Amino acid sequence: MNKKVLIIGGSRGIGAEAVRLFAADGCSVVFTYHRSELAADALRQETGAVPVRCDVKHPDSVRIAVDKASGVLGHIDVLICNAGTADYGLVTDISESRWEEVIDTDLNGVFYCIRNVLPAMISRKSGCIITVGSMWGETGASCEVAYSAAKAGVIGLTKALAKEVGPSGIRVNCVSPGMIDTDMNASFSEDDVRAIADDTPLCRTGDPTEVAKVMKFLASDDSSFITGQVVGVNGGLVI
Ligand code: NDP
Repeated sequence: MNKKVLIIGGSRGIGAEAVRLFAADGCSVVFTYHRSELAADALRQETGAVPVRCDVKHPDSVRIAVDKASGVLGHIDVLICNAGTADYGLVTDISESRWEEVIDTDLNGVFYCIRNVLPAMISRKSGCIITVGSMWGETGASCEVAYSAAKAGVIGLTKALAKEVGPSGIRVNCVSPGMIDTDMNASFSEDDVRAIADDTPLCRTGDPTEVAKVMKFLASDDSSFITGQVVGVNGGLVI
């Protein structure tokens, strides 16, 4: 595909699969990690993609990471805002600090990344931004109020931004995963995972590669007339 790609949150899970897929397809890839430095280094050795440290909660950290990525890549054709954190519990038990951490990571971080990457895309009149929502941002999940609110915000941001920057030749789409087998769901019991799989028309949970492949499609010229869309990758659990 030969594009210059910045993947935010590429050290593990879905983001790491995206790094593998884009790198294998001939793209130049920079990805960010936050805590998983060892995993990021292993991924660099495996794929040749370049890791950069970034905490999306902090605007300065994002600005520095985007500057480094731009330095490595020359320019950024594709931005994938994949970093995320989940939270489970009754809304009455969510502390203010945890609420802020989820909103800062899952929603504000997306804004910080886009704000830093967009001006150069607008100047070039070309670019592609992929956000990562969640089926819970579409439907709401009991005991995941902060996460659902943040991901619903990401979906609204995606649609609004697609309208704003479409005339500048920039496409913005949201990939909205269902239950995917990554560390994010490690705290679920086998019974919980089985119950979700049983409710899913395709009768299973998803593989991170299945999400990364949709990211690749949305980043490619094969999706040149698609913008402002929320693409569910959920086995039919949300229809
Ligand atoms: P993982 O927990 O496996 O990976 C999360 C990634 O986000 C890691 O690379 C992590 O970096 C990065 N990250 C977390 N916090 C920060 C931060 N403050 N600053 C920068 N990077 C950060 O999650 P998944 O791969 O499962 O999830 C990827 C995306 O998909 C998320 O946005 C998630 O909400 C969404 N999603 C996932 C679903 C699932 O079932 N797995 C379902 C629906 C949506 P590091 O490890 O270096 O700290």
